[in-house]
Amino acid sequence: MSAQAHIFRPDVECRAPEDQLRRDRAQYRKQLDYLFTRSAFHRRKLNDAGFTDAAACGELGDIAALPFTEKDEIRKSQGQHPPLGDHLAAPRETLVRIFSTSGTTGDPCYMPLTRNDLAMWTEISSRSYFATGIHPGMSVATTYGAGPFVAGAALETLSALGACHIPLGTGNTERLIRVLQLLAPQALMCTPSYAVYLAETLAGRGIAADKLGLERISVAGEPGGGEKQLRTRLELAFGVKLCEAMGIGDISISLWGECDEQQGMHFSGGDFVHVELIDPDSGRPVRIADGAEGELVYTALQREAAPMLRFRSRDHVICHTSACACGRTTMRVRCIGRTDDMFIVRGVNVFPSAVRSVVAEFVPRVSGALALRPLQRGVRQEPPLPLVVELARGAAQAADLAHEIEQAVRARLLVTTRVELVPFGSLPRSEYKIKLVDYSHAHANLVERI
Ligand SMILES: [Zn+2]
Repeated sequence: MSAQAHIFRPDVECRAPEDQLRRDRAQYRKQLDYLFTRSAFHRRKLNDAGFTDAAACGELGDIAALPFTEKDEIRKSQGQHPPLGDHLAAPRETLVRIFSTSGTTGDPCYMPLTRNDLAMWTEISSRSYFATGIHPGMSVATTYGAGPFVAGAALETLSALGACHIPLGTGNTERLIRVLQLLAPQALMCTPSYAVYLAETLAGRGIAADKLGLERISVAGEPGGGEKQLRTRLELAFGVKLCEAMGIGDISISLWGECDEQQGMHFSGGDFVHVELIDPDSGRPVRIADGAEGELVYTALQREAAPMLRFRSRDHVICHTSACACGRTTMRVRCIGRTDDMFIVRGVNVFPSAVRSVVAEFVPRVSGALALRPLQRGVRQEPPLPLVVELARGAAQAADLAHEIEQAVRARLLVTTRVELVPFGSLPRSEYKIKLVDYSHAHANLVERI
């Protein structure tokens, strides 16, 4: 079988990068014209920044001169121009879907899509999921809650791909276990946290997870699936290959997908989305090269209903641009964490997921569950950073273990922690995403920013 048999859209995903750039340049000009004509939101922002028309914005190579779009601006646009905001750039009657966010901190954000937008999401997600090993003819159990959320479109992609979809939704572990035993799906799609939770639940019941017939786990929804220790542990527990995918609701449900080489997630949005890398502090562009690190910024090249220009993702990644043995020529990334979750401890950036990665090296002496418990709210923290680490099932307190973990975190991340070991099962488990930071011990009078 040729390598390209494992690629959903070889003509796009194996294209020479210069060829892609040439196409993107042309599409970008069209999109800028569209924004100036149809989007009051982007026209106003660009005018305010001194760009009177599309021509004044220059070429794709000049994009770094244009203002970013922040999620808060989209929220504000919706509040000031209800119901969908003045970033809505397509007539209401052309919309075929309106998704919304959970809205836990106020009104939900609505995400409108035209027929072309929805078809584009399906195409991009198909490339991404296909890369993670979800192929036509496979049966796939999923644990994502659809409801009003964009996850619904992600799940529709499975039918478009020709896979047999077995939807379970969130919080249905009993049903999932029966499905794994009776229907024996070849693939499972879930968050990394849930895969850990499921592995522990199965082990606790004496069910051999590696005898269920699973061949693949495709994880998404949070960073962690790319962490070596976590991946190896889950691959061994379930007897599968585990690859990760990543999306962002305002751009595309799934936008990156990791191939069998497991060296980062390939960009799957070719022709539809332009990617930049920036320094999250200064906002300055970072050249995309092997090992380059920064925040991903996206520009939609063909979006109709809610097009985004230089949208800040807050996802902090490391890039890989060297040739991949799978044959795809697209860049790869590994997400380290959300810049929103990042701490700065005496000038050093610390991502909770990076701390988890270090603690994972101590499995099987620890369970892998942990919580950072800062003593004050906010980005800036004073050392030592309190870190609660859960021991493995049945493990006794070990005198040196806490110290060893402190040393390892210090050596790898240059941050001082104070480790407290707690018995197995003390920390909360999640069926969706685990919160690595627990502010319940923070001083209320030191609220800097939430
Ligand atoms: Zn690859």
